[in-house]
Amino acid sequence: MPNNYDAIIIGAGHNGLVTAAYLAKAGYRVLVLERRELVGGCCITEELWPGFKVSTAAYVNSLLRPEIIRDLELKKYGFEMLPRSPSSFTPFPDGRYLMMGPDKEMTHKEIAKFSANDAEAYPKYEDMLTRVADFLEPMLVETPPNPFSTSLGNLWQLAKTGWKFKGMGQDVAGEAVEILTGAARPILDRWFESDELKATIATDAVIGAFAPPSHPGTAYVLFHHVMGECNGVRGVWGYVRGGMGTVSNSIASAAKSYGAEIRTNADVGKILVKDGYAYGVALKDGTEFTAPRVISGADAHVTFVRLMDSKDLPTEFLAAINRIDYSSATVKINVAVDRPPNWKALPSDGKIGPQHHGTMHICPSQDYIERAYDDAKYGRWSQNPMIECTMATALDNTLAPEGKHIVSMFVQYAPYHLKDTTWEVEKDKFADRCFDIIEEYAPGFKSSVLHRLVIPPPDMERLWGITGGNIMQGTMSLSNMASFRPAAGYANYRTPVKGLYMCGAATHPGGGVMGACGLNAAREILRDG
Ligand SMILES: Cc1cc2nc3c(=O)[nH]c(=O)nc-3n(C[C@H](O)[C@H](O)[C@H](O)COP(=O)(O)OP(=O)(O)OC[C@H]3O[C@@H](n4cnc5c(N)ncnc54)[C@H](O)[C@@H]3O)c2cc1C
Repeated sequence: MPNNYDAIIIGAGHNGLVTAAYLAKAGYRVLVLERRELVGGCCITEELWPGFKVSTAAYVNSLLRPEIIRDLELKKYGFEMLPRSPSSFTPFPDGRYLMMGPDKEMTHKEIAKFSANDAEAYPKYEDMLTRVADFLEPMLVETPPNPFSTSLGNLWQLAKTGWKFKGMGQDVAGEAVEILTGAARPILDRWFESDELKATIATDAVIGAFAPPSHPGTAYVLFHHVMGECNGVRGVWGYVRGGMGTVSNSIASAAKSYGAEIRTNADVGKILVKDGYAYGVALKDGTEFTAPRVISGADAHVTFVRLMDSKDLPTEFLAAINRIDYSSATVKINVAVDRPPNWKALPSDGKIGPQHHGTMHICPSQDYIERAYDDAKYGRWSQNPMIECTMATALDNTLAPEGKHIVSMFVQYAPYHLKDTTWEVEKDKFADRCFDIIEEYAPGFKSSVLHRLVIPPPDMERLWGITGGNIMQGTMSLSNMASFRPAAGYANYRTPVKGLYMCGAATHPGGGVMGACGLNAAREILRDG
């Protein structure tokens, strides 16, 4: 069978599309195969109800690498960020509220409502994070060193990493290690006294993670969320005009402009391997495509367990892949409403106010998050879940009919496996409970709802092909990060099978709409020639 392509990419998630674009730009004949009817994976916009264009999964952006926006000329294809100011609003049961960032003066005043000491400490905390980020951020677009290789290039890379770590300064280094390995809660407890502030910040530490802020690993999740930028401003999250699908569609347009071919409704059933070499794929309908390079943007479980024969993989490698934690924590509820939520703590009488611009948190204290987790660890959904609402329609009038809005609710904790019941039985009960809670803070919310789509972890798995509904293609814990993502010795986007590569969030630097995995993979593939 002739090779019509130089590379076949499994999955048109945004990372797969980034790899496709860079390879096609370098002159490769690239074929992208996507099982769904649209490109983007977890980074999509869908018209769920007439006139409502919903970012069904991912809903805010900050992490997308600026070099990708530049190299692929994404603005030419419609990519536009809408910065959010303020970026967060937390109403509390006592009627007070906390509004934060990116306006430093406003943030200072807001935090001072709860603690003057914290208002003074906050810029210093941000400064500490910036210094750690200065050390870590360049590594996002570097292939991690292999601690098990004694090659000169690798030893040189390890030495460079050590040198950069030294450059961070002795005063911050200890805290940096704690951020990389520790729990968010003790860090926040050390820096701040106001539980309202700590709870608001802690939401970023647990988002998407099946862990409360007191668990090791959550400090890194917190940090992962401050490493991006919006229009050049560090740590700021924004909406993407037209919804998150615009990110993927603009990358797809760039890839196509360089000659890549993208086929949707093309569900890969098998990666074809012979004598230790990958030589193509077979779709579930039996159609085969061949190429000397096969690159998977699907997660590691899908790639190595579902699409491959175990006999083609070393036993110890497969054991490492089977150790990856895919626990899920979240339910996404997409809601169409006929007016913005009218928060009791800051009423707006049906109008859009600054409280609607950013993430609206229902999370009154750190203990509230811990208790929400307690339910989930015993296999129940949280009776009082942590709820993050965003309403991109506050800043983007292209998404909903005039006067109507989309509220995106990201809620946790919600384990994949429920004790003695199923999500089919529970998902509407869970959504009703979430709506009741919002109603307490924003009376009239329930009667404003026009449509809703509730997506618990098993539905995420079915819809987006993410194992266990894990939104990051595998937990972002130290044992599964950097040189250990997806498995020790295989963090360089290559696999034990020659010609088979990985390019999705399952690889370094992990989940989020960052594109860095796809970019790094393309660089390594081009290096192999
Ligand atoms: C509900 C939710 C909310 C999130 N919110 C945010 C957010 O607000 N901001 C943020 O930065 N990140 C967010 N994330 C995380 C982020 O969306 C993902 O980490 C990121 O989109 C992963 O991109 P990817 O290209 O690596 O993989 P994916 O998006 O998982 O893409 C993989 C693609 O491969 C396809 N595929 C799988 N198997 C096959 C097969 N056999 N044949 C063909 N195709 C196949 C899938 O259909 C999919 O299109 C969220 C994720 C979820 C699920």
